[in-house]
Amino acid sequence: MDLIIARNRDDLVKARTGGEVALVPTMGALHEGHRSLIRLARARADQVVVSIFVNPLQFGPSEDFSRYPRTFDADLEVCRSEGVDVVFHPSADDMYHPDRQVSLRSGRMGEIVEGASRPGHFDGVLTVVLKLFNLVQPHVAIFGQKDAQQLALIRRMVADLDVPAEIIGAPTVREPDGLALSSRNRYLSAADRQVALALSRALRAGAAEPVPSRIRAAAQAVLDAAGPELDVDYLVLVDPATFTEAQESYMGEAVLAVAAKVGSTRLIDNLTLTLNPA
Ligand code: AMP
Repeated sequence: MDLIIARNRDDLVKARTGGEVALVPTMGALHEGHRSLIRLARARADQVVVSIFVNPLQFGPSEDFSRYPRTFDADLEVCRSEGVDVVFHPSADDMYHPDRQVSLRSGRMGEIVEGASRPGHFDGVLTVVLKLFNLVQPHVAIFGQKDAQQLALIRRMVADLDVPAEIIGAPTVREPDGLALSSRNRYLSAADRQVALALSRALRAGAAEPVPSRIRAAAQAVLDAAGPELDVDYLVLVDPATFTEAQESYMGEAVLAVAAKVGSTRLIDNLTLTLNPA
């Protein structure tokens, strides 16, 4: 069956086959990371819907909404080659009516760590994801661990608002040298790219240590050594479900997360570590 391109709710309703639906929400500029999510979706459901929508609500006024890469034709080829059934590609006008009033608040968890640097970002993410869920009505939705706080907040939203969808987190796909794939990597010059490698290197250095203070110190040392071209926003070790800081006695899974600018490109990365009793 050929790929269906849906622009609105009517198109989505027509495309329904009655089987289990898996949704992969994206902003396009698809890469291997997105492909891995699509493959998980393909394995979990009868029908795979990929949404491609650069959501204006989740960009701050000084962020890169207008320069965010838009590569729709290439994205369609990726979707075709991965056996996607439906690409949902609404216009911003279709998604957001001029008279709209109601939106979601992400709460305290949306205001810390990444949310502290990007006020309103997670409100915009949750609002669009809930709209996508209402439009597509998926049984399963796949999100990348690459955006760990986003994944945690979506799990929180689904629990708090009784959203009838199963959420699956997918591992981060990386370049052979460790750089996490991102649609924004295309903006990195060769020199920037070398600087950007400090993010994943710092996470690995932290992951080799046993306790929070040493994990943070080892990761910080790598970031410091990268020099002034790396403009670090935050380095945190947090509880994956709440994104609150892990105390020194913390045990179990923790997320070591970093955000930094290289030139004008802002990058994020994280690793999940397991902290065991000494
Ligand atoms: P985006 O198009 O950047 O909004 O990302 C769409 C989905 O792909 C999100 O759930 C991301 O977490 C996920 N994603 C982005 N980069 C990667 C990656 N390198 N590996 C796995 N998933 C990713």
